[in-house]
Amino acid sequence: MTKPVVAIVGRPNVGKSTIFNRIVGERVSIVEDIPGITRDRIYSSADWLTHEFNIIDTGGIELSDEPFLEQIKQQAEIAMDEADVIIFLTNGREGITSADEYVAKILYKTKKPIVLAVNKIDNPDMKEMIYDFYSLGMGEPFPISGSHGLGLGDLLDEVAKNFPEPNDEDYGEEVIKFSLIGRPNVGKSSLINTFLGHDRVIVSEIAGTTRDAIDTEYSFDGQEYVMIDTAGMRKKGKVYETTEKYSVLRALKAIERSDVVLVVLNAEEGIQEQDKKIAGYAHEAGKAVIIVMNKWDAIEKDDKTMNEMTKSIRKHFQFLDYAPIVFVSAKTKQRVHSILPVINRVSENHALRVQSSVLNEVIEDSVARNPAPTDKGKKLRIYYATQVAIKPPTFVVFVNEPEMMHFSYERFLENRIRESFDFEGTPIRIITRART
Ligand code: GDP
Ligand code: GDP
Repeated sequence: MTKPVVAIVGRPNVGKSTIFNRIVGERVSIVEDIPGITRDRIYSSADWLTHEFNIIDTGGIELSDEPFLEQIKQQAEIAMDEADVIIFLTNGREGITSADEYVAKILYKTKKPIVLAVNKIDNPDMKEMIYDFYSLGMGEPFPISGSHGLGLGDLLDEVAKNFPEPNDEDYGEEVIKFSLIGRPNVGKSSLINTFLGHDRVIVSEIAGTTRDAIDTEYSFDGQEYVMIDTAGMRKKGKVYETTEKYSVLRALKAIERSDVVLVVLNAEEGIQEQDKKIAGYAHEAGKAVIIVMNKWDAIEKDDKTMNEMTKSIRKHFQFLDYAPIVFVSAKTKQRVHSILPVINRVSENHALRVQSSVLNEVIEDSVARNPAPTDKGKKLRIYYATQVAIKPPTFVVFVNEPEMMHFSYERFLENRIRESFDFEGTPIRIITRART
């Protein structure tokens, strides 16, 4: 089921990133934690009571060449394009400014629900300050304080009330959902065009099932697929679409709806930081991953090039050591046909269930070979393991003292599981629990 998307909009300094961080809370991200740059994270999952959603801090989508008003206009447009509910944030201490009025004027154009929040209401005495804000014509203003964490519950209640009814867009279990993600210009659109070339039967293009995403359903060789379009690949044109942050945002939305993510790299430009970040999201989201090195035609090669490139990819994407790599050219169509069988394979592994009895044999044998850690005379005892989920395969390991399960031992168990079963292409998760 697709989670609703909430976007925070407002002029600079009203507290958008503060509120974003409050709502998101302490979610750790292995790929994105750059200390000091809070703005680096502009998209995250979040929850409130029983509601799960994704939230965007549009203030983090900077368009450095644009004048101030143009920036906030585009941020508001992104919110109107991408979100199901918009939080329009203002600053109660400064009152309504002309920039707030400007934002309001843009937001009037959308039919999407807008919740008006007045920030920096740090104590109850200040609540009167919100009444002026009725004049923005956005309904009831909600007083909040990002610094003190006040009022957020009421605000989120209102936001959640406006969530769309969950739509039944989910495809059947047997349908493989995949997407191509990557920096602008790596060749995603070209690959898609090659993919959808002559021998595929396109069942339908469903525009707007989820906002403006375009899903292409097709079948090949008896298998059904849905290709989930990212970055509006087939509707280029808006100024902000070329910004890096926006392309990441679209990639994240596509990743979330996919089973299999094709991380597309550009052989001509080599591996860049942004590639790792994008791939990291797919890994964290627990999706099956294939690394596609595109534009293989465009570089000079000898018989060592592929090996060297493989090594380089493995070095840069250590967390994706399970992901198969394919070298292709959308331009010459070289090996593009080999991608689909890989998608089938990793998709199967992503949904693989292993028998508990076999799993426990593997675990017992592993412990016998490499005894579990000890600490101050205590020994980690592993009693039993079981697979609790697929997509991605998730294992719970019951032990005496969960805190004694070190990362390195967990990694060892993961490797042993991988040696014993075919989990190529899929991340696997191990959860350690105390046996009660
Ligand atoms: P943005 O530009 O809209 O993302 O705003 P920031 O989140 O960066 O906040 C701008 C400034 O307002 C920072 O100095 C924050 O510490 C401050 N701020 C944010 N929320 C509150 C609040 O609830 N009360 C007060 N007094 N200051 C706040
Ligand atoms: P996207 O932004 O990732 O969708 O990238 P596009 O598919 O729009 O491709 C960007 C540019 O790279 C275009 O000029 C393509 O013609 C070119 N391109 C795409 N794939 C290949 C390839 O395999 N080889 C070469 N030489 N150029 C390619």
